[in-house]
Amino acid sequence: MLTIGVLGLQGAFREHKQSVEACGHEAIIVKKKEQLTEIDGLVLPGGESTTMRRLIDKYDFFDALRQFEQSGKPIFGTCAGLILLAKKINGQADAHLKLMDMVVERNAFGRQRDSFETQLEIKGVADDFEAVFIRAPFIAEVKENTEVLATYQDKIVAAQQGQFLAAAFHPELTDDHRLMQYFIDQVKKNKLKLATN
Ligand code: GLN
Repeated sequence: MLTIGVLGLQGAFREHKQSVEACGHEAIIVKKKEQLTEIDGLVLPGGESTTMRRLIDKYDFFDALRQFEQSGKPIFGTCAGLILLAKKINGQADAHLKLMDMVVERNAFGRQRDSFETQLEIKGVADDFEAVFIRAPFIAEVKENTEVLATYQDKIVAAQQGQFLAAAFHPELTDDHRLMQYFIDQVKKNKLKLATN
C-alpha cells in the first residue's frame, strides 16, 4: 500500500483523501511540513492559489515542498494546485513553486462559465471522464518535455511532465477515480524505481 499526502492548508483536500482511499491506498492530510517525509506522492488540491500560497509561506512549506520535488516523488496538482506548480502565470509578475515547465492562465474560461462539467478524453486514463471545472485555469503553453493528456475547446486542461501531473479540473468531486488511479500508478512505478536504484 502506498501513502499519498494531500496538502491540507486550504481547498478540496478531504475529497482527494477519499479518492485516494477509494483506490485502496492510505491518504494523509499534510498540515505540517515534517509529514512530507512520510509520503510516496503528493496532491496539491484545488481551492484558491493566492490563499494557498499565503498559507504555504505562513506554515513554512515553501522550501520543504521544493525539497520534496528534489526527491523525485510524484506531485499531482489540480486546479489551484496546477497553478502552484506552474513556472509562469500569465498576468502575474511572479509564480509560486515554479516546478512544472508551463505557462498557465487563471480563471480562464470566462465569467459566464465560472463552473461547468464536461466529458473529456484523457490520454491513458479514459475517453469519457466527467470533469468538473470551477473558476478553472488552463495551460497556455508547455514545452516539448511535457505530454498533453487532455484538451477542452483547444485549451490544454491536463498534462504530465516527468514526476508532475496537472489537471485544470476537479477529479476528486465525482466518483470517477480513474485519474487518481493513474497518478497512484505513477507513484507506484516511482517507488519501485527508487527501491531498485
Ligand atoms: N481560480 C482559482 C485560483 O486561481 C482556482 C480555482 C479552483 O481551484 N477551483 O486559484
